[in-house]
Amino acid sequence: MVQEKIRVDTLVVGGGIAGMQSALDLADQGYQVALVERDPSIGGKMIQLSKVFPTLDCCSCITTPKMSAVAHHENIQLFTYCEIQAIEENDQGFVSNALQKPRYVDVDTCTGCRQCEYACPIDVPHPFDRYLGAHRAAYVPFSTAVPQKALIDMENCILCGKCQRGCPANSIDFTQKEQPFEIESRAIILATGFEITPPDAKKEYGAGQFHNVVDALVMERLLAPTGPYGHVLRPSDGKEPDSIAYVQCAGSRDKTLGVEYCSRVCCMYAIKQAMLISGALPLADITIYYMDIRTFGKGYDQFYQTAQAMGIEFVKGKVARINEDENQNPVVRVEMIDEGSKVVERMHDMVVLSVGMLPCYDPQPIFGVRSAEDGFVLTPSINMAPCVTEHPGIFVSGTAAGPMDIVDSIVLAGAASAEAAAYLEANDGNRRSVKSTTNAARVTAHA
Ligand SMILES: Cc1cc2nc3c(=O)[nH]c(=O)nc-3n(C[C@H](O)[C@H](O)[C@H](O)COP(=O)(O)OP(=O)(O)OC[C@H]3O[C@@H](n4cnc5c(N)ncnc54)[C@H](O)[C@@H]3O)c2cc1C
Ligand code: SF4
Ligand code: SF4
Repeated sequence: MVQEKIRVDTLVVGGGIAGMQSALDLADQGYQVALVERDPSIGGKMIQLSKVFPTLDCCSCITTPKMSAVAHHENIQLFTYCEIQAIEENDQGFVSNALQKPRYVDVDTCTGCRQCEYACPIDVPHPFDRYLGAHRAAYVPFSTAVPQKALIDMENCILCGKCQRGCPANSIDFTQKEQPFEIESRAIILATGFEITPPDAKKEYGAGQFHNVVDALVMERLLAPTGPYGHVLRPSDGKEPDSIAYVQCAGSRDKTLGVEYCSRVCCMYAIKQAMLISGALPLADITIYYMDIRTFGKGYDQFYQTAQAMGIEFVKGKVARINEDENQNPVVRVEMIDEGSKVVERMHDMVVLSVGMLPCYDPQPIFGVRSAEDGFVLTPSINMAPCVTEHPGIFVSGTAAGPMDIVDSIVLAGAASAEAAAYLEANDGNRRSVKSTTNAARVTAHA
C-alpha cells in the first residue's frame, strides 16, 4: 500500500545504472530520494549484459550490489512498476503525479519464493532474454531482480487460480488496482536511458526474417551465465556456430534511418563479445565488418589490439545486404574497401547486428524539458555541466543525455547528483528566492 503523498528532496526517474548512481550519491549525502522505475525491477540494460568492456568484469556482479544498496538505503524510497504521469510546479518545487501499476501480488507479504511461477501453466516470451526464453504469467522478473517480488502478467493470465493456490504466503491479489499518489520534490533527475535501434530497421539485413541474424543484446543474453540456453547456440536449430560475423553501425551513422550520430559503444561491445565468444567457442571464426573502429576511451585501443592478436578478423567493408541459404546460414554481401571495393558474398552460421542507441523517452510533455535534434535530452550550453537542462531544478543523468558507455553514464550520474545537491543547498527553504551557481550560469548562458 503506497502513501497518498510523499515528500523528498529529489525525484530520480529511471532505475538503470545512471539513476541508481545518482540516487545513491544524493542519499549518501543525507538527501531524501524517491526513485521511480517503470519496469518491475531496477537494473536497466546493464543487468542484461554479460560482461563489461574493457575489464571483462561480470555485469551482474557489479550491478546487483548497487541494486541492493538502492533498495536498502534508508534515504531512498524505491517505486518499481511505477510511472510519472504529470508534474506541477509551485514555490516549494515540483509535485509529480505518480501511478503505481498493480502487480496483483502483495509486495509486503511476497517472499519471492516463485511457487506461483512453478504452478502457473502459461508461458510468455521474456523481454529480459530478448524473447529467446519465456517467463510464466505469474513470475519474478529475473533471478537477481530488485525487488525480488512476483507479479502477474494480466494480458496473458487465464485466471485459472493455480498461482493463488500455490502461494504459501497468500500474496496473490487479483483485486489490486492502479494506485495514484503524489511525490513532492525540490529537484528532479531524469535517468530514463536508451533503447536499441530496432534490429529490423534496415530491412536489407533480414533481422526478424532470418532466425540467425540477431541483435547484439541477444548475443549479450547468449553469453550471460544466466542466459536462456546457458551457451552460445544459434536460435534456428540450437547448433554451436562455427562462424559468427558482426555488422557494425547497423543503426547508427545512417541518414536513411535518421540516426546520423555514432552510438559510441557498438565498436567496443562488438570487440568484447568477439573476445567472449572466442573463450566460449575456441574453434569459431569471428569476423567484424566495419567502416571505422572507434575505440576512444582509456585502455580501449589496447582492448582492440588484444582482439586482433587473438585472431578476430577485422574487415573494412560495407555490408549491403544479408540473405539466407537453404540451411538458414546468413550470407553477407559486402563491399571490401581494402580490396578495391570488390563485392563478395561470405557465408556465416550467425550474424550479429551492432545496433545503435536511440532515446527512449521524450520528457517534454510531462517535465517541460526539450530534447535536442538527436532526440536525447537537451543540455543547452557547453559552459554548463552536460547534466544541466533548460529547466531550473531538472537535471539529466546517463544515456538519457546521449549515447555513452557505463563509465561515462556513472560520471554523468555523479555530475547530476552534484548539481542537484548544489541546487538544493542554494535553494534551501524557498527555491525561487535564492539563485544557485547553476542558475546563475544558466541565466548568463541564455542572456
Ligand atoms: C548490446 C550492448 C552491450 C553493451 N555493453 C557495454 C559494455 O560492455 N560496457 C559499457 O560500458 N557499456 C556497454 N553498453 C552500454 C550500456 O548498456 C549503457 O551505457 C548503460 O546501460 C546506460 O545506463 P542508463 O542508466 O543510462 O540507461 P538504461 O540502462 O537504459 O536505464 C534506464 C532506466 O530507466 C527506465 N525508464 C525509462 N523511461 C522511464 C520512465 N518514463 N519512467 C520510469 N522509468 C523509466 C528504464 O526502464 C530503465 O530501467 C552496452 C550497450 C548495448 C546495447
Ligand atoms: S506471490 Fe507467493 S508464491 Fe509467488 S513469489 Fe510471492 S510468496 Fe512466492
Ligand atoms: S491465474 Fe494466471 S498467473 Fe495465476 S497460474 Fe493461472 S494463468 Fe498463471
